[in-house]
This record gives sequence, structure tokens and C-alpha cells, in this order.
Amino acid sequence: MPELPDVEMFRRYFNDKALLKKIANVEVGDSGMLVNVSPKKLSDSLVGRAFVSSERYGKYLMARLDNDSWLVLHFGMTGYLQYFETLDEDTKYDKLRIEFIEDDCLVFDCRRKLGRITLVDDYEAFIKEKALGPDPLAQEFTISDFMEALDNKKGSIKSALMDQKVLAGIGNVYSDEILFQARLDPSNKINDLDQTDLENIYNAMIDVLDVAISKNADPKSFPEGYLIPQRKKDGKCPRCGSDLVKQQVAGRSSYVCPGCQKKK
Ligand SMILES: [Zn+2]
Repeated sequence: MPELPDVEMFRRYFNDKALLKKIANVEVGDSGMLVNVSPKKLSDSLVGRAFVSSERYGKYLMARLDNDSWLVLHFGMTGYLQYFETLDEDTKYDKLRIEFIEDDCLVFDCRRKLGRITLVDDYEAFIKEKALGPDPLAQEFTISDFMEALDNKKGSIKSALMDQKVLAGIGNVYSDEILFQARLDPSNKINDLDQTDLENIYNAMIDVLDVAISKNADPKSFPEGYLIPQRKKDGKCPRCGSDLVKQQVAGRSSYVCPGCQKKK
């Protein structure tokens, strides 16, 4: 499932391929993925306009049009973007196709249809309506904001990191990496963590997300010592070489090194 670093890659790809090009035609492949907008309204709103900039908030890609409204994409479990230089190519699970006047196009492919497409006038209002927590890579997001986001939260630290209303952008895979780098077991209860633990998690979170983006969110390029490339059957701890243990935390499969990650 695309998480913050993956969506940041999609955003950069979008900027590279789709900005400042006049939109000639829009085709919706699955209206079930549209939220609060009909295929006709979406098409009418995009055709003749151009995207002028983009933002990422958590796992959302927000593309601003030249009339200051925003196309919002959420990639669900399987979504991604694919650009084609001609109009006669397509992806297998094309759900939204945006064609430009130069006869090139951008396709939003989403096999499992769990992605979402909407159009909003007000970016801030959308974030508020979704009750999204802060984006951890926002410049103003400090350690005290992190403490505040976790304040009064119950349950495991992993479930809090994955809760989009606490923090926007982290899912199952990156929460495992963050907690591995912070050397804490994902099942630890927030209440049992002390100030130092929370500082370690905050620092690991910023570092992991920055590193992942700098490596194009490609696990094959991640530094030695990263857990993500080992999140698989027979995976080994990149620190001590022990077998990783797969365990259920917050309803998700978590990969843990019991030797390196402290249980409080
Ligand atoms: Zn280990």
C-alpha cells in the first residue's frame, strides 16, 4: 500500500509529467472510485484547464488546477500513476485517464479499486473534514507536536503511528521500519513509553521518511540496516542477523527482531 514516501514519488512523477499541460479529455474508468463528484462534473472541471502545482498531505496527492480547485488522489492499496507519450497505450486497471492536448496522457491505475478520486475547492477544509493528523514531514512538525498527537492515545505505538487521524502518511510497512530504527517493539503500549522512547521514535520517523524519499521509495536502494527489505519470509534482522518474527499488531502483520526491539 502506498505510504508517504511512495506518494511523494507519485507527486514528483506527476509534476514531471502533468504540470502546465492543457487537458483535452478525461475518461473515468470506474465511477465507484469518485467521491462527491460525477464523471461528467469531473470531466467538465478538468477539460480546458491545466495543473499548476501539487502538494502531498499524508497519503494524499493534491493537484492544483489553474482555477485554484484541486484534484485529490488517494492510492488505496494498489494505485499508481503511469504516463504515456501517446494516446493508444493504456494500463490494465485504468481508473482515470487524463489526456493532454499534445496527445499524451496520465493514467491512474488501481487494480483493487480502493483508491479515491475527488475534486475540492478548499485544500485546508478537505484536510479538516478528513480529520487528518499532521503530516510528519511538514516543516513545522516538531517533537512537541508529535507528543501532542500521541497525547491521551491508548493502545499500541504501532496502531497510533498508522492512525491517519494521529499522523497522516504512515502505514504498516513504514511503522515497522520506524519502530525497528527506534529499537522498540511495535506492540508496546503508548502509556508504557517514556520521553526518551518517544524522542527516539520521532527522530527515527523523520529520518526514515527522509531517507526513503531520497532513495526514491525503492527498498532495493535502502541503506544496510533497514528492515523493509527483510520484511518477508525468512527475513533476517539487518542488525544482529537473527530471524525476524512476524506478529500481529493492531490487526496487521508486523516484522520484529525480538533481540533488538525492546518490549517495555
Ligand atoms: Zn536484531
